[in-house]
Amino acid sequence: MKSARLVEFGQPLRWEEKADPTPNDHEVLLEVISCGVCHSDLHLRDGYYQMGGTEKLFVKDRGVKLPLTPGHEVVGKIIKKGSKVSSVQEGDVKLVYPWIGCGACEECDLENPQLCSVPRSLGIYQDGGYSDRILVPDAKWLLDIYDLSPEYACSYACAGLTAYGALKKAIPLKKNDSLVIIGAGGLGMFASQLVGFLTEAKVIFLDLEGSRLEKLKELGFYTVNSSRSDIAEEVKKVSGSLGVSSVIDFVNNTTTSSLGFSLLKKNGKLISVGLFGGELKIPTPILSLRSLTIRGSYTGSPSELKELLQLVSKNKIRPVPVEIRNFREADFALNDLSSGKILGRVVLSEK
Ligand SMILES: [Zn+2]
Ligand SMILES: [Zn+2]
Repeated sequence: MKSARLVEFGQPLRWEEKADPTPNDHEVLLEVISCGVCHSDLHLRDGYYQMGGTEKLFVKDRGVKLPLTPGHEVVGKIIKKGSKVSSVQEGDVKLVYPWIGCGACEECDLENPQLCSVPRSLGIYQDGGYSDRILVPDAKWLLDIYDLSPEYACSYACAGLTAYGALKKAIPLKKNDSLVIIGAGGLGMFASQLVGFLTEAKVIFLDLEGSRLEKLKELGFYTVNSSRSDIAEEVKKVSGSLGVSSVIDFVNNTTTSSLGFSLLKKNGKLISVGLFGGELKIPTPILSLRSLTIRGSYTGSPSELKELLQLVSKNKIRPVPVEIRNFREADFALNDLSSGKILGRVVLSEK
């Protein structure tokens, strides 16, 4: 197998070639057809997340060990399976659920492996899909992609699922309620596809990039450029003077989180998703006096991913723009993502 591997934090990925692994028992070996490049791969390569001020959260302190093959948005074709695997066949094309856990804790028992405290996520704690092969520890992590093409289906494992998981936490909302979505990049675009199937509430997108907002406006969404000094007034023109019921913050830095919090009406919810880093300072009495909720959202469960793939397939949801690049370009793709040159998603493929 040939893989683009992270050998040292802060350094470019390195190509490595070794013999294909042999799947044992419940394991399955897949030939990678496509693998999405995700923003969190950048944090992985850098080796840290930015916290508030100058503080950093180092990924090695979260248990990430090198060398590692990144890539957690993987669609592949089964080429070999362990002796105890009967649910899938060689030749099947499947999406890999990457947020796997220890299999022994309470959250894993509740089928929320994404919340496991000893995570074993593929592409983060175990080798992922920046490779022509991926070894999946159990066939139960393989999901049907129905009639979706591998290039479009792969990004639902992280970006799509993250957007879906956040939206599910923002609802239920009534028709007259307003939902603000901060960030119209990759996650925001997935949210724009899905939100109409989950709520009839008014949706207002906030972003600094006028071109992204133009696209969303064409799709019928309200938009406000967050470089304006009168954002709150602009949002209230849509939501009414009391404020908005839910805010999803896909950026989640110091500026956006306090902006999102300030837009909430009583009993409102702020859902923090992005990993751009920062800190939110709030006067504690405001939380109780206004009965507000702040909560985080991290990816989603296997059943939510299955639900999402069915929703996308059944409703023929238009795909988020995808730029396909060869696996060899993994590192350049990360650089372009880092400098904001990517609209939509980059997907690595042999093509
Ligand atoms: Zn667990
Ligand atoms: Zn991701």
